[in-house]
Amino acid sequence: MRLHNREFKTIFKRTQVELGAAEPNWNIGPIKVGGDNYPETTCNEATKEVTVRVTESTIKYPLQRSYQLIHESVHCLSPRNKRETLFFEEGLANWYALTHQSLPESYRREAEALLDSLLAKPYKIFCQLRPTYAKIAALRKDCPGLDEVPARLIIKHFEAPDQIADLLMERMPEARPKLMV
Ligand SMILES: [Zn+2]
Repeated sequence: MRLHNREFKTIFKRTQVELGAAEPNWNIGPIKVGGDNYPETTCNEATKEVTVRVTESTIKYPLQRSYQLIHESVHCLSPRNKRETLFFEEGLANWYALTHQSLPESYRREAEALLDSLLAKPYKIFCQLRPTYAKIAALRKDCPGLDEVPARLIIKHFEAPDQIADLLMERMPEARPKLMV
């Protein structure tokens, strides 16, 4: 899908400007389009190949395409071959997409209201950090891999209470959310 690839390139460039550079040496292959449910980023840690897949519906709905690509671009900053992402990373990916200025506010509001409960949980906790791009980029300078972020760096960069940092150390279940709109 040419359109998907071109758009992802633009999005990922912006994500790195706003949230800090991606870890080096990962090769992000052509965007895959398929499946009815959730989009997903997977990788091979040996070959450093990264695969981003978005749902079939993104062919018909351009805002859904942008939204899914923006979310997955956060996972592409430091790909890991596991589904149980940290609440911190999943909360960040959702917050980033739901506040992305390239998407109309009406769409973002609708997407927020329809957020699957699996994703809403880390998202709501993440919002309590009162995040900014600068704080996230600063944290990523200390720890580029979002999967390895320790509670102490969340406390340091967001001046977060211990309790909120601890909640963000939880991991996502293996089960996947339903369709993200
Ligand atoms: Zn995600």
